[in-house]
Amino acid sequence: MASTIIIFDFDKTIIDVDSDNWVMENLGATQLFNELRPTMPWNPLMDRIMGELHSQGRTIDEIVECLKRIPLDPHIISAIKSAHSLGCDMRVVSDANLFYIETVLKHHGIFGCFTEINTNPSYVDEAGRLRIFPYHDFTKSPHGCNLCPPNMCKGRVIERIQASTNSKEKKRFIYLGDGRGDYCPTLKLNEGDYVMPRKNYPVWDLITSNIGLIKAEIHEWSNGEELEKTLMQLVKSSTSAQLLSVDCKSQAKQLKTHEGLAKALHVQQ
Ligand SMILES: [Mg+2]
Ligand SMILES: [Zn+2]
Repeated sequence: MASTIIIFDFDKTIIDVDSDNWVMENLGATQLFNELRPTMPWNPLMDRIMGELHSQGRTIDEIVECLKRIPLDPHIISAIKSAHSLGCDMRVVSDANLFYIETVLKHHGIFGCFTEINTNPSYVDEAGRLRIFPYHDFTKSPHGCNLCPPNMCKGRVIERIQASTNSKEKKRFIYLGDGRGDYCPTLKLNEGDYVMPRKNYPVWDLITSNIGLIKAEIHEWSNGEELEKTLMQLVKSSTSAQLLSVDCKSQAKQLKTHEGLAKALHVQQ
């Protein structure tokens, strides 16, 4: 059982671009986006744009090819593979959507490194149109967090993961992100955890504007090379710390179950 849980944001963290913007720019939907943006929240807007692209005759294969062209820094691929081989439990928490994330991670051969992808559900319907839905059904049960967009509170996801881990075995969290939506989960981290905000991006601005609110140790990064170096240092230091406390581990290591688990996709290894 892994004792280090690494949680990655996707857009501008694992990949260097925003996947929604990438697809819209590459398939010529930017003007439509600019027209509709003032009238709709982001998540339903993405579903609407997919509907418009479908009615213009753009195919799902074009979207897949476009997603495969998203650059992924080799240092980040190598960091993810190394952390996986060291036994870290890795998960994605993202406000993109499952179809995009799965396509990109599979294309780069790292999908199997993750145990969970927590994101907005999406699927290709019978007509070949990509449908995108909110992670939280905000019309029926709003998440009530005023830091986060209505469709997804990443802090709620972190709390669910924290509650699902065995309290007898100390789990160390490492959270990596760049955006405003990564601030709420950062506030949920505890002493002994690490947060890796991308330097000069919104989450870094929020963290550094009031450092006293953050219990986790802060390790900034700017690019893939720094991400790999810093993450590997943290993983190795937490692995050696665990070896010292191995005698204290309990024999029974049963994962608590939680109703929220059903919301996450469990990746087949
Ligand atoms: Mg991001
Ligand atoms: Zn939140």
